[in-house]
Amino acid sequence: MTDTADLEALRSEVRSFLQAEAPTGWRDASRTQDDFVRTQRDWFGKLVRAGYAIPHWPAEYPGGGRSLAEQKVIYEELAGADCPRLLLSFVSTYHAFATLHECGNAEQKARYLPKILEGETWCQGFSEPGAGSDLAAIKTRAERKGDVYVINGQKVWSTMAQFADKCLLLARTSSDGVKQAGITYLLMDMKAPGVTVRPIHQIQGDEEFAEIFLDNVEIPVSERVGEEGKGWAVAQATLASERGLTLMELSYRMRGALGRVAKLIREHGHEDDRGVLRDFGTLVTQVDAVCAIADQFLDNRINGIERMGDASIVKNAYSRALRAYSALGLRLGGMDEQYMAPITFGDLNTGNWMADFMNSYAWTIAGGSEEVQRNIIAERMLDMPREPKGWVL
Ligand SMILES: Cc1cc2nc3c(=O)[nH]c(=O)nc-3n(C[C@H](O)[C@H](O)[C@H](O)COP(=O)(O)OP(=O)(O)OC[C@H]3O[C@@H](n4cnc5c(N)ncnc54)[C@H](O)[C@@H]3O)c2cc1C
Repeated sequence: MTDTADLEALRSEVRSFLQAEAPTGWRDASRTQDDFVRTQRDWFGKLVRAGYAIPHWPAEYPGGGRSLAEQKVIYEELAGADCPRLLLSFVSTYHAFATLHECGNAEQKARYLPKILEGETWCQGFSEPGAGSDLAAIKTRAERKGDVYVINGQKVWSTMAQFADKCLLLARTSSDGVKQAGITYLLMDMKAPGVTVRPIHQIQGDEEFAEIFLDNVEIPVSERVGEEGKGWAVAQATLASERGLTLMELSYRMRGALGRVAKLIREHGHEDDRGVLRDFGTLVTQVDAVCAIADQFLDNRINGIERMGDASIVKNAYSRALRAYSALGLRLGGMDEQYMAPITFGDLNTGNWMADFMNSYAWTIAGGSEEVQRNIIAERMLDMPREPKGWVL
């Protein structure tokens, strides 16, 4: 469906749904963690039933099979309506889906994809205290004993792990050969004996992610994705998802929130301040450019002409714009905005400028740090010399 009239019909259909159903009051400072979880689950359920939760899934799933043009319309409207970002379900609908769809066996797909639509929450257990940028350095061990793997180790920065039912887990089954070779990809039950989750309290007051401690956790061999020792290749499907649609959605949300900066300009009497207007104009252009780059990236991916490093460009363009957005808001808000009110989990463009400013730095790291993305662009796109041995991506 690329016809403009059809797209406009979809747009007004989504808009009517949002006018009737979008949650309100979800940013109230008095809301508890339980309120957050309830709102997220209710909102996800409504989006699934309306057919707007998984437009990027295949057509056999309700609400799936949408063209890229349709997906953009849906994300634009969701961003414009200022409804909650689906923090609790983005790992399941994006990363778990992409991984299972591309690399899972028929039984795993049949078992898990419908459960995701019923609201099963997933988290991603990749990073460890000594393995983030250098992900292949993971030390968490998976030892095969009959029909199970026995897992020992620690994961960190696992988004929403404290609420998750399942985990996309990378563990080492062998230390022979290059470090990528001995990694195995497993689906772990977060309620299994031996799993301990400890939320990490963040500077802006919420607890978006957690540490996961694994003490003799048993995972059935049937929960392995791909072959033993071939998990590195499977992990690329997860990571590609992280750098694709998620960033498009976030970019659209930032564009939808530019009105908050305009409001500050009016409220603080800056309408005639040419310097402020110039900075706002620069920001609007920057955010528009990020949306265009994210669109182009996805078009290229769908047409099979994505280049190595394209995703890194989108990632860095987004994190820079996010920092510029929140820094301008903080500056224009003056002293009033120096107070940091509590914010809703993982919310990014809240208009609570101090919290937004603090939080904007998370995106210079999440999904691979800015420096590492620059290395990728330099080495793999611009053909510049590779970094000296000892520094590993
Ligand atoms: C909001 C958020 C959500 C996250 N969610 C998850 C999640 O759900 N699951 C998960 O597994 N992980 C998650 N992460 C972890 C994230 O993937 C890692 O933080 C990231 O890959 C960086 O790893 P690190 O923190 O170990 O930093 P390090 O790798 O230790 O890097 C420290 C510093 O050194 C720099 N550096 C490292 N290597 C190089 C190099 N070769 N060249 C130049 N500079 C370099 C980095 O840029 C950085 O500035 C999340 C992180 C954030 C911020």
